[in-house]
Amino acid sequence: MRTAIEVVEGIKSGAISCEELLSKIYERIEKSELNCYITLNKENALETARDVDKIREDEGFERKKLLGVPIAIKDSISTKGIQTTCASKILTGYVPPYDATVIEALKQEGAIIIGKTNMDEFCMGTSTETSYYGATKNPHDLTRVPGGSSGGSAAAVSAGEAVIALGSDTGGSIRCPASFCGVVGLKTTYGFVSRYGLIAYANSLEQIGPIASTVTDTALLLEVISAKDERDSTQIKIKNNAPTNYCFSWRNGTKSESEEIKGMRIGVPKEFLEGASPAVKKSVWAAVHTFEDLGATYEEISMQNLKYALASYYLIAMSEASSNLARFDGLRYGLRTGKDEDWHTTFSRIRGEGFGEEVKRRIILGTYALSAGYYGKYYLKALKVRTLIKREFEDALKTHDILAMPTMPFVAFKLGERIKDPLYLYLADVNTVSINLAGVPSISVPCGFSNNLPIGLQLVGKHFEEDMILKAAYGYEQNVS
Ligand code: GLN
Repeated sequence: MRTAIEVVEGIKSGAISCEELLSKIYERIEKSELNCYITLNKENALETARDVDKIREDEGFERKKLLGVPIAIKDSISTKGIQTTCASKILTGYVPPYDATVIEALKQEGAIIIGKTNMDEFCMGTSTETSYYGATKNPHDLTRVPGGSSGGSAAAVSAGEAVIALGSDTGGSIRCPASFCGVVGLKTTYGFVSRYGLIAYANSLEQIGPIASTVTDTALLLEVISAKDERDSTQIKIKNNAPTNYCFSWRNGTKSESEEIKGMRIGVPKEFLEGASPAVKKSVWAAVHTFEDLGATYEEISMQNLKYALASYYLIAMSEASSNLARFDGLRYGLRTGKDEDWHTTFSRIRGEGFGEEVKRRIILGTYALSAGYYGKYYLKALKVRTLIKREFEDALKTHDILAMPTMPFVAFKLGERIKDPLYLYLADVNTVSINLAGVPSISVPCGFSNNLPIGLQLVGKHFEEDMILKAAYGYEQNVS
């Protein structure tokens, strides 16, 4: 499969026919057993591809950064005119009347939407098994999960069913499937990318972000989706923010990748490695030594509050979810079954039928955590722990440029292995959730295999220093591939 950068160059020079490229991808999807997509946008995409093949003579086409690049979009992101379900029965048939800001930006730059990818229902999960549309399978082993919740997006990129993809990450949902499927995934600093049009699960934690097969494609996609947006008041406006210069400065520089890494100070928090499998530990340490060979220094450090991260994350995420999901009542859009009775009966019936088991569990637990008498004991306490964790990251990143650790403590597990026991499943998020609590950026890059299953290296940076982790990931990728 070609990279986005190769596709853009090929289309601009005339070496690649966009229509042929799209047709090949759809052929692959139609034969696939992976179940990466919920909805395909085939007719529209092929029509746009034919237009792209024609506009080569048009003025301005040269400037389009993603001209003709086929992209998969997680089904939690609103796409005008294309069904958007969040993998839930309750949103079956819902067609948004507007595009998320990131989708507007992608279209502006010439990207073509292949379809909407499978995911855990309302992003709640780590394995893409809670989807109403059935589980997605891991392209490296069809008996295993692709990770989640953006499992369809990561599996599609890994299997050549998309060139690049968008995911969303509340507590690991981009990085976990990137790690399990052997691709690159980036969760940006909270406030870096507009969330306008992202269907909310836990809005103080989540960000839309890129999934790609290379670090350079990841940066290119980030550059496009980080466009400024007045409609998202939580998006932080960086001074002189031409995102292009901001994200891409490292790639356009004249320095070689090893020069970029020379002198970089890496912190390796030991708590992130404690529960990891021997194969994962070995690969992550090998990666740290590769950085050393490239001129970086590393130091083992300790982060005391990490042991509270899972509890704090799940309390906050479920509390926010219980409030966010109140809007799905079937009255204005989405599922509408049976005959209308009084409001309470109709509302309860539609929600009872429309939400899956995991979603219901979280709404109930979140409502409980926010209820009078328990608010201080659970929710408020979780927020205080969040502040401690955020400070701990900020401190560690005062003396280190980046932190390195495994994305996931193990490789992809078997379908059905963890889903039966929610707590056992939640434990899989031990290395990703603290990063969302702190709001810092983090990238997962492939760093080896165990029994033919990919392992992911996670690199974490200071707030708004996406360029630093991209630079490190790029240097690493160039040296190991
Ligand atoms: N597995 C975590 C959860 O279920 C994270 C999911 C996500 O990032 N959306 O909350």
